[in-house]
Amino acid sequence: MKNIYGFTLPRLENYFLKKGDKKFKATQVFEWIYKQRIHSFDEMKNVSKNTIEDLKENFALTPLTLLQKQIDTDVCKFLFGLADGNKIEAVLMKHDYGNSLCVSSQVGCNMGCTFCESGRLKKVRNLEIHEMVTQILQVEQEMNIKISHLVLMGIGEPFDNYENVMDFISILNEPKGIDLGARHITVSTCGIVPKILKFMKSGKQVNLAISLHASNNEIRDKIMKINKAYKIEEVIDAVKQYIKETNRRVTFEYILLKGVNDKEEHAIELAKILKGINCYVNLIPYNETSHIEYKKSSKNTIMKFFDTLKKNHINVTIRKEFGSKVSAACGQLRANYEEG
Ligand code: SAH
Repeated sequence: MKNIYGFTLPRLENYFLKKGDKKFKATQVFEWIYKQRIHSFDEMKNVSKNTIEDLKENFALTPLTLLQKQIDTDVCKFLFGLADGNKIEAVLMKHDYGNSLCVSSQVGCNMGCTFCESGRLKKVRNLEIHEMVTQILQVEQEMNIKISHLVLMGIGEPFDNYENVMDFISILNEPKGIDLGARHITVSTCGIVPKILKFMKSGKQVNLAISLHASNNEIRDKIMKINKAYKIEEVIDAVKQYIKETNRRVTFEYILLKGVNDKEEHAIELAKILKGINCYVNLIPYNETSHIEYKKSSKNTIMKFFDTLKKNHINVTIRKEFGSKVSAACGQLRANYEEG
């Protein structure tokens, strides 16, 4: 039985058309599940008994299992169980501009970034579309809030689950459903070049963030395995093409790791690479985890790095630190739950 939350509107329309039924039934279903947030098909008041019976026979309307919730003032972390027993995380961050949810796209991750907790569990499988959609629905229900921004920065590499992630975004965007605008959604990738180019051609107005984290290949090779496949120059080249084609500004994420990539020379090198590109750099204070030996750069070092980029005409921001109290770095909650 398929989970209905995995269906884009056109796919659900097709389902009804194939049965010789009316297309608009798909819209009705969408409105019931995403606007009214029903938990059973029986609650659909304006839909015929036959259709309800048919839906009950063919579709599941099942949520994820909430295993754990950790609440802090401006951040809340959720650990969800999937039907097959795997676990994933979502993190809610309360900003002054709204509620942003960070969702997972895979169980585990194969990208092998040495500083990242998520990758300690190798990829078990991709998340199904419905497993991404229901992360939002459940957080909204649990917290009684509306999510205004969504980032694909949880466990997993979204571009390693490309097709499902694109369908997930279509479901989010659907005006008759969740209706979250593309510009409020950000996909973050470690830099899988062919997928950046594919994404460029998809026409989606979603924000793109690139986890760069290093100013030269020597350092990036050491901390991000993906750099063996796609060098910094290739990533930058793909980003330039992306910007030319889409006219959209790109974000480069840069985690500051003490003594590894946080020196002034690195900031100067980074500014050189990014010169003339319509982008901004988001400096990320490293969220230390007990399993990995990297340390976070000092406040002073972070500020110096920031200033050097500024002086070299690079748009730069420092990411607000969330949830060090609630182990908010990707993969930490799952790791602690399994081991604690
Ligand atoms: N695979 C994608 C998305 C998931 S990671 C990607 O690589 O972009 C989302 C962001 O969090 C990435 O920039 C990642 O490098 C960063 N990150 C991972 N572990 C972190 C930690 N301990 N502290 C701070 N940021 C971390």
